[in-house]
Amino acid sequence: MLGLMQDWPLLCHKVLDHAARQHPRRKLISYTDDACVESNYAELRAQALRVAQRLTAEGVRPGERVATLAANGARHLAVWYGALGMGAVYHPLNPRLFPEQVAYIINHAGDRLLFVDPAYVPLLESLADRLTEVRRVVVLCDAARMPPTRLPGAIDYETWLAQVDGDFEWVRVDENAAAGLFYTSGTTGPPKGVLYSHRSIVLLSLTANAPDVYGLSARDVVLMAVPMYHANGWSWPFTVPMAGASLILPGSRLDGASLCEIASRHGATVSGGVPTVWQGFLDHTAKTGLRAPALRRLFIGGSPCPEVMLRAFAQDHGIEVIHVWGMTEMGPTGSACTPTPETAALDGPGRIAWQQRQGRVPFLVELKLADDAGQALPWDDQATGNLNVRGPCIVRRYFGAGDAPLLDDDGYFDTGDVGTIDGNGFIRITDRAKDLIKSGGEWISSVALENVAMMHPAVQEAAAIAVRHPRWDERPLMALVLKPGATLTQPELAEHLATRVPKWWLPDAVVFVEALPHTATGKLDKRRLREHYAGLLLTSGNKI
Ligand code: ADP
Repeated sequence: MLGLMQDWPLLCHKVLDHAARQHPRRKLISYTDDACVESNYAELRAQALRVAQRLTAEGVRPGERVATLAANGARHLAVWYGALGMGAVYHPLNPRLFPEQVAYIINHAGDRLLFVDPAYVPLLESLADRLTEVRRVVVLCDAARMPPTRLPGAIDYETWLAQVDGDFEWVRVDENAAAGLFYTSGTTGPPKGVLYSHRSIVLLSLTANAPDVYGLSARDVVLMAVPMYHANGWSWPFTVPMAGASLILPGSRLDGASLCEIASRHGATVSGGVPTVWQGFLDHTAKTGLRAPALRRLFIGGSPCPEVMLRAFAQDHGIEVIHVWGMTEMGPTGSACTPTPETAALDGPGRIAWQQRQGRVPFLVELKLADDAGQALPWDDQATGNLNVRGPCIVRRYFGAGDAPLLDDDGYFDTGDVGTIDGNGFIRITDRAKDLIKSGGEWISSVALENVAMMHPAVQEAAAIAVRHPRWDERPLMALVLKPGATLTQPELAEHLATRVPKWWLPDAVVFVEALPHTATGKLDKRRLREHYAGLLLTSGNKI
C-alpha cells in the first residue's frame, strides 16, 4: 500500500520559487568587476525564467549541459536556475585549472553553449580551436561592456536575454533527472565528472542546513567566498535561498582586503571557504586593525584548518570557526564540527584541539571506517583507517566513465581520506591517503607536521611531503614560506618541532621557498611538490 501524500518531485527550481515568494525582501548583492548590484530573489527568479525561455528558444535539449566559466555573480546564478528550470544541466568550469584541463572537461561534457565572464574571454579564446562542440558563447555583461571576440556565436548576455519576455513555466522533470555537473580537479589522473540530480541537490541542501551543520536562517547575511564552480559552491546557491538568508556574491574579489570590506559594508553574519582565502583576511586585518563586526560564524574546509587560524579567529575577531569536510563526490557536504553537550563547554586549548576535528556527519551520510581489506574498524578515536561513505547525495558512478565499479559490496564510496572516529562520531582526518608519509612501515601525517610548523611565529605556510630514502623508504621533506621579514634557521625549526611531534617525524630536509604551489581550488598542490623533488634521494646525512 502506498502513502497518500502529494507527489511532489524534489526540484531545484522549487527552491527559487520558495525564496521569491517567502523571502522577497532578502537581498541578493552581486559584484562584477566594475559594479555592485543589489536585487532580491524575486528578481532573480524573473531573470531565471527568461534564461530558461531563451535556452529553450536556443534549442537546448533536456539533459544537455550548459557550461559556465564565471565568478560568483547574480547573472551566473540566474543561468544555473534557468538551465535547471528547463531541464538542462548546469556545468560550472573552474577557470583556475590548467587550460588543457578546461578544454578536456568542456569536450568531455559535450558542452555546446557556454556562459563566460568578460575576464575569462581570453582564456576561452586560447582554447577555441580545441573545443569540438561549442557553438555559442554568451558573455556575462551588457552590450556596452562586450569585449571584441571571435568566439563562436559570441553575444552579450543582456542582448541575448532581451529576445524573450519571461512568459515561461518551469518544466516538471523527474526528481532523479541530472541537474548539475562538476569535475574534480584532477589531482589523481584526468578530471572526473560528478553528476548531481535534482533530488540529491535538494536533499543535500536540506540536510546541510540542519542546526548542527550550516544552520542558516532568514536573519543571516551570507558572504559566499566559496566559488560557485567549486564543488557546487558547497550547495550555498540552494541552501541560502532555501533558508531565506540574504546572499552576497563577491565576484572575483576574494582577497583579504575585499572580503573584509564587503563583509563590513553589507553586515555579513556568515561566510566560509578554504583556509588560503581566510589567511588573506587574517593577514589584512592584522596589518590594518580592521574588522568585520557582524561576522559571527565562519565555515572553513576544503583543506585542514590550521590550528593557528582557529586561534586567530577566536582571539582577535571573536568569530566562531566551524571546521567542515566534504568533497565533490559527496555533494559536497560531509561533516561539520559543531558541539554536542559533551563538547559545548570546552574552553581554551581543549576547545581549539576539538575544533580541529572535521566533525560529525549529518543525516543522509553513513560512515564506515575501514582497513585496507575493507573490514570495519572501531570508533575509538585510535584506530586509523579509510573513511568510506554512502547515502543518497553521494556519487554512484562518474559521468562518461563507463561501468567501472566505484563502490564496495555494501555501497560505500572510499573518500581517499584517512582518519579516526571517536565514540561521539567525530571524525579526525589525519591525511589524504596519497599524502601520508610511510617511514620504515609507519605512517607520518603530513597534515600534523604542517600544523605544528605553522605554529612557529616565523612560518607563513608549510608543506610536508614524502621523498625517497634508501633505508626508510620515505622520509618527510618540509617546504616552508616565511612571513615577510621573518627569519628561521633549520636548528630553530628542529627545536620547535621536537617538543611537539615524535622524534622520528622530524623532517630529513627543509627547504625555504618564496611560494608554495596551490591547486585550482586553493589547496596545497602536493603532487606538484612531489614531482619537483622526485629526483631527490635523502640519506641520513641531511637530517635537520
Ligand atoms: P579536489 O579533489 O579537487 O581538491 P574536492 O574539493 O572535492 O576537490 O576535495 C575533497 C578533498 O579535500 C577531501 O577528500 C579531503 O581530502 C580534502 N578536504 C576537504 N575538507 C577538508 C578538511 N576540513 N580537512 C581535511 N581535508 C579536507
